[in-house]
Amino acid sequence: MGIPAINVVCLRCQSCGEHLAGRDFDRVFFCPACRRAFEAGPTGLEELEFREAGGTGGADADELFLPMWMFDVDVQAARASDEQRTRAAGFFGRVKVFVSAFRLSHKGFYGDPGVALTRHWYLKVKPGEAPEPALEKTVGVIPPGCTVGSSRAMQYAEPVLLLVIDPVVDVTGLELKMAFEKKTLLSVRFHRNDRRVKCLDLAEEYPEHAFPDLVCSADK
Ligand SMILES: [Zn+2]
Repeated sequence: MGIPAINVVCLRCQSCGEHLAGRDFDRVFFCPACRRAFEAGPTGLEELEFREAGGTGGADADELFLPMWMFDVDVQAARASDEQRTRAAGFFGRVKVFVSAFRLSHKGFYGDPGVALTRHWYLKVKPGEAPEPALEKTVGVIPPGCTVGSSRAMQYAEPVLLLVIDPVVDVTGLELKMAFEKKTLLSVRFHRNDRRVKCLDLAEEYPEHAFPDLVCSADK
């Protein structure tokens, strides 16, 4: 039995020294001054690639920004039937998988924003061409409630992808090999809707499953 260790992290921006904003249970903290994002880990703070999706400008009354992880992943089939290998072939290779960084109380086929955004990305894939979402480098609105850290989110990436593949071919027994190449934290514009996903950490906010368009542009 080891002695439990407590890691203490100083919540100051590594760039400008400002106090970082965040709440209990958050895994990512934001600098309100220079709009950088830092993830708390076992060795301290790690600065993240932090981008905004869904257009710049403030949120309207019926909109809010929420945090999402975007992973660049090389996906291969680790175990698959011949039918799965053939019919799911288009899902393999270098892809982007989106996983919610805020906590969801109801995860489901239509309710999980990671599944919806990942499916949305695949819909834009053309033969030999994988779309890069148009992302703003300057983040206008810092998203609250970033309670799912990147390592936990990586564990969710395979189930998210299986949910995306499932309508195309039954994924029973299909196992994926996920090689993570890059992680990016996004501030994503959502629309409020009281019939869809409910966020535990944002009691009054209910984003719907129709998501901001992650437009792929030629002039990225
Ligand atoms: Zn700063």
